[in-house]
Amino acid sequence: MRAAVYHAPHDLRVEDVPDPTPADPRDVVVATHAASMCGSDLYLYQGELPGLAAPGATILGHEIVGEVVAVGPAVSRFRVGDRVTFPFSVSCGTCRTCRMGLTGHCETSNRAIYGFGGLAGSHAEYVRVPLADGHLRHVPAGVDDETAVTASCNLPAALIAVDSAEIAGDDAVALVGAGPTGLLALQLVMRRTRRPVLVLDRVGHRLALAATLGGVPVDVDSDPVREVVADATDGLGVDVVVEFAGRGDAFDLAVSILRPGGVLAGGGVYRVETAHPTDLGMLFATDLQLRLNGLANVLPHMDAAMDAVAAGEVDPSVVFSHRVSLDGLPAAAEAFSRRAEGFHKMLIEP
Ligand SMILES: [Zn+2]
Ligand SMILES: [Zn+2]
Repeated sequence: MRAAVYHAPHDLRVEDVPDPTPADPRDVVVATHAASMCGSDLYLYQGELPGLAAPGATILGHEIVGEVVAVGPAVSRFRVGDRVTFPFSVSCGTCRTCRMGLTGHCETSNRAIYGFGGLAGSHAEYVRVPLADGHLRHVPAGVDDETAVTASCNLPAALIAVDSAEIAGDDAVALVGAGPTGLLALQLVMRRTRRPVLVLDRVGHRLALAATLGGVPVDVDSDPVREVVADATDGLGVDVVVEFAGRGDAFDLAVSILRPGGVLAGGGVYRVETAHPTDLGMLFATDLQLRLNGLANVLPHMDAAMDAVAAGEVDPSVVFSHRVSLDGLPAAAEAFSRRAEGFHKMLIEP
């Protein structure tokens, strides 16, 4: 089959690799109809997690909609021809953490994530799905490809973070990080508060799209952030920050604009942030409530995410700015990494 193989930071190459087969009786093989690239894939693509990307071997990608083409003998819930998607992480459904709903922490799969470490991802014509009965999901015929692909990660991750914030109708809310997942979260937040939602980012075309969706854009590099927040909250600070940047400076910014007792609902991935300077004493002194959802347990929320689209609460298609074939993926990945003008998210159709 054809697959985009990681060779070095900023170097994906589309190559012929062996077709996956059901190597274990519990495996399914899925033909990829559409996939995408998540912001968290950029940690690998940009070389920030070298231990999780093997040059010449790793196939990235944990978002997918596809069709079952092979089924291991121990699989009971799937047949050849089923239209499916999977959550970004592999879960068994029966271990202690899975039974708690903490599917991103599955003990059986050892927190395996598609496209990270040794498990091949969806930037390929076919993908092997281990422990398929535990986490593979059917996709109803009426669900479009963009919705099904975002159900793997971005959309339930946005829903989990926004739900965890417990936003009240008169809350002042700021969204930090207007990448694709942040822009999905923005749409959900705007359904839950009557007040204007501040959107903080430093990428102009992301802020422009946020404004189109009804958010109030705030450029963290050129706008007076503290004054804007003070004006919007009578000097108190916002009640809630939903954070989807996943970087230490963004986390610090989120902490700095919250009112005492405010809620920081984090959806960002802080995987590479080992030494950012958030002041623990300040967290203590302001009674902030941290609700981190970075290693999101998306499986139990995939259906609710697709239901939110059906109900018109959120439209994933607005974040898909580009459609590419597998051959177009290396250039699109670089544009995504560089935050190229007008580039938000790509639908990859192998
Ligand atoms: Zn993701
Ligand atoms: Zn498990």
